[in-house]
Amino acid sequence: MNAALYTDALAPFLADGKRLRPANAEVFDAHTHLGLDEDGRSLDLPTLLSQLDDAGASRACVFPLHDPERKPAYSLPNDRVLTWTDESEGRLIPFCRLDPAEAPRAEGERCLAKGARGIKLHPRAQAFAFDGPEMDGIFTLAEEAKVPILIHAGRGMPPIADGLADLALRHPDVVLILAHAAICDQGILTSRLADHPGVLYDTSCFFPIDLIELFARVPAERIVFASDPPYGLSSSGLYLALRVAAHAGLDEEAIGGVIGETMAALVDGRGLPPVSAPRGAQQITLPGRLARAYGYASLAGPAMFAGAVEQAQGMLDLAIAVCRDPQPGDSGEALEEIGAALIAARALTESKGGMRPALDLLFRAVARAATEAPRSRSTTEPPTPLARDALSRSSQTA
Ligand SMILES: [Zn+2]
Repeated sequence: MNAALYTDALAPFLADGKRLRPANAEVFDAHTHLGLDEDGRSLDLPTLLSQLDDAGASRACVFPLHDPERKPAYSLPNDRVLTWTDESEGRLIPFCRLDPAEAPRAEGERCLAKGARGIKLHPRAQAFAFDGPEMDGIFTLAEEAKVPILIHAGRGMPPIADGLADLALRHPDVVLILAHAAICDQGILTSRLADHPGVLYDTSCFFPIDLIELFARVPAERIVFASDPPYGLSSSGLYLALRVAAHAGLDEEAIGGVIGETMAALVDGRGLPPVSAPRGAQQITLPGRLARAYGYASLAGPAMFAGAVEQAQGMLDLAIAVCRDPQPGDSGEALEEIGAALIAARALTESKGGMRPALDLLFRAVARAATEAPRSRSTTEPPTPLARDALSRSSQTA
């Protein structure tokens, strides 16, 4: 793999992220994993800590993956996570993963006594709905222990939202963190839980539009940065959260809440901040050229994840073609940087070990393309030389 290809294409995104990030806010990743997953993914403690360093994140919540050694009751993976968090010098906050079918209350009590500070539930991996009697037991345990429950609410699930909303509304004192912007049922969950005092939504998702829409439906004080490693990277997940938060018109204090201060207040026992009205716009407005780049580029991601490399390359080629525009209009700088990232990603897909950096560049390019509305643009920084060329071209031909 050509490392310079990756780092050169990454540089403008790192600079952009730095510009968007409030200086004094703690960065806290609400959703990370350690250990081994049945799908072959794994993550160890030093790697996770260095990924958090790359993002400037001081702390993270962490829990097991869908571990092949999870039976019985997730005890072994839970114990491993508790050991690793002990070695993290306070940076990792352990949550215990519970299987509702395997004595969840006993395992939860055991882990909480050993230092767990939250509960993780995965209704897809553990194949459960939220209407069984054992679920009230888990929520009652969280209520008594005053710990939050993080719930997978991403892809691959039958409709669970109404059962989950009923349960959550029966336990209004339990703080919930709905993962992956609650895309499994964002409409039902954000509507039915709008008056629940403690439902947070984490930002770990692939499609920026899911997050843009979340900011239109949920108070910014209830949205928390998360990246879901080993599936996501903390620094690229943070970039997405920053881009969308700025796009939604949030001020520095509110952005600080999203990237970590809200989670820090929760785990440090200071409670959740009061809410304001959702700040995102009801319409998603995108320059046409960027909308085309976004469309093709966002199809490349799932193809890469699925190992369908040729299909991914085909979509990347079309997205790159969109960026090759002699009349880029107002989108010259964005098209230049997105195009450069996609060209590097395309080349990386052909090299050994290049898929992960290719995905990172693609993820950031997609995030940028979807959030380049006029109000998110910096007016204080001069455009890059490449962008200046593009802009002068566009003014000559306008
Ligand atoms: Zn996860």
